[in-house]
Amino acid sequence: MKNIRTESETSAEGVRTIALLSGGLDSMLAAAIVKRAGIEVIGLTVGFFVNASSEREARIASDVRKLGIPLRTLDLSEEHLEVIKFPEHGYGTAVNPCIDCRILMLKAALRVMEEEGAEFVITGEVLGQRPMSQHRRALDVAAVESGLGDRLLRPLSANLLPDTLPVVEGWISRGDLFSISGRSRQEQIRIARELGITDYQQSAGGCILTDKVYGARLRDSFKHVGKDAMGIDEFLILRYGRQFRISERVKVFVGRNARENETLAKFARERYAIEPLSVPGPLTLVEGDPSEEELFLAARIAARYCDHKDGVPVALGMSQSGDTRTVESLPLPTDDPRLAAWRIETRR
Ligand code: SF4
Repeated sequence: MKNIRTESETSAEGVRTIALLSGGLDSMLAAAIVKRAGIEVIGLTVGFFVNASSEREARIASDVRKLGIPLRTLDLSEEHLEVIKFPEHGYGTAVNPCIDCRILMLKAALRVMEEEGAEFVITGEVLGQRPMSQHRRALDVAAVESGLGDRLLRPLSANLLPDTLPVVEGWISRGDLFSISGRSRQEQIRIARELGITDYQQSAGGCILTDKVYGARLRDSFKHVGKDAMGIDEFLILRYGRQFRISERVKVFVGRNARENETLAKFARERYAIEPLSVPGPLTLVEGDPSEEELFLAARIAARYCDHKDGVPVALGMSQSGDTRTVESLPLPTDDPRLAAWRIETRR
């Protein structure tokens, strides 16, 4: 079992590092290990619209409080958008461009490193923990393509990797660092205990790009809307509602609950909005350039999800750009097989 050195034994006087923090245990441990070796640590969190959440922000704020380090925050949503659309290293099992995403984060960390007069960057990456971005070649590619080169230290797996500048320069020794690989978290939990870290989130969690349903929806939008026409809103809306591709150019969103209806309403601009007038039911949005026939088909889908009696038309308000008209729409039968065929995540 490895012992962690005390601060008095370190040879890191005046050395500063930038720690990329994700809100998970690994990145917090990496920062704690390096701080314990006597190196001054500045936390950095990189936000993207795909992982933004108040929980994540609160976890990172709590981590830096516990670590007693300052935090810098960057929002790289626009840059990340381009990475998602055009990843040089491709996607993982869903639409997660993890290698390019890591490179983007590390480039940001390099900029902050230079601004802060720091010597190197640390991450909580663990060799072999993630199939796409943390195998040996991916780690090497990220180090080189980010421009960090050997100014990058992965404290949890450093002893399985070639020495980088912090070890070569003697700012930290191999005795401070670890040889963790793979997906088990036993060793991290042991180190956390050793460092007195008791309250933590095992993983940062929550990147929607790794979700298979979201992935199917995004691929559908790439094909039918086109990458060049897609801004952040076109990515965000894919999280909400049931989604039906009823033709090459037309897509229908149907809210699943009151909260989704409220969220979808924020995306109504430049889309048709359909709402029930006399019975409870969801907000439905129609995207694309629908023909009258397609609009009425969307209204029938909307009516299907309203409180209705079979065979009885539902009164719906249909609006676009401030113009509203009323339509009476016969709900599609609940077991209409086209509903399943149009559902984007189950289409073949
Ligand atoms: S899981 Fe998401 S945020 Fe994490 S590296 Fe992959 S694309 Fe980036």
